[in-house]
Amino acid sequence: MKIFNSREAIHYYLDNLRSAGRSIGFVPTMGALHAGHLSLINAARGKADLVVCSIFVNPTQFNDKRDLENYPRPIEDDLRKLREFKCDALFLPEVDEMYNSSEFWKIELGNLDKILEGKIRPGHYQGVTQIVKKLFDTLKPDFAFFGQKDYQQIMVIAHMVKKLKIRVELVICPIIRENDGLAMSSRNVYLLPEERLQALALFKSLTLAQELFKTESILQIKKQVSAFLETCPGIETEYFEIFNAHTFDPLTSKRAKTMIALVAARIGKIRIIDNMYLNKANLY
Ligand code: AMP
Repeated sequence: MKIFNSREAIHYYLDNLRSAGRSIGFVPTMGALHAGHLSLINAARGKADLVVCSIFVNPTQFNDKRDLENYPRPIEDDLRKLREFKCDALFLPEVDEMYNSSEFWKIELGNLDKILEGKIRPGHYQGVTQIVKKLFDTLKPDFAFFGQKDYQQIMVIAHMVKKLKIRVELVICPIIRENDGLAMSSRNVYLLPEERLQALALFKSLTLAQELFKTESILQIKKQVSAFLETCPGIETEYFEIFNAHTFDPLTSKRAKTMIALVAARIGKIRIIDNMYLNKANLY
């Protein structure tokens, strides 16, 4: 696996391969890689000639400085996993390779950065689009792979790609879970043993929603699942919502082709998010 720290070097390297007719599949990450990330690498390998991964803990998308400082950075482990999964090239820049001190970025995201994660984490999606745009400009991938785990992030990036007419195909990959159902996340390592058990409430709330969906109205599902979450010890629910998966608008009735339930909660010091389609398992 080739490792690049500079934008210019990886740009030049990929340009040559692209000119030789090779397609490029890109997997952006913040590192602390787990089976969820590695499933994106596998998907990329299945679709593109060359798999490029980036590891960059992007400061502009953190609205909590402590979260940024504490974010896990096990780089040696990550390199081993990437080699094992046959990643062809890794882009591993320092912060000052990606940003200078006087940068301004603002993209109109409509409602997307005002609701759910956008509301709870102000500025988060501006930071996400800022870095993903820079990475797309540098690597010019044919395909970019994102996890359904961060569903709203996919909506945001799809919005940017359309708005700025970026030539890249987005590929959405299913959520990879632990054996008991907890969605894998780099932050899960910070859950204390008791919290790790409590965290299962999110998966349970989504499977309950899926079950209720067979017979109940959207309003009933929201009511019953919210009541369930209130009974779960250690869980401070931030939202449980049911959205149209395509338009990303909240639903009050079942009038949408694909419906998705999204949940976020605090468990101790950790925030956890998860989601599940209600009427189609793993649509993409
Ligand atoms: P992150 O390193 O958290 O920024 O995530 C990098 C990519 O991995 C994003 O596209 C995430 O949606 C995806 N990802 C994170 N967790 C999972 C998971 N459990 N299953 C599938 N993809 C995931």
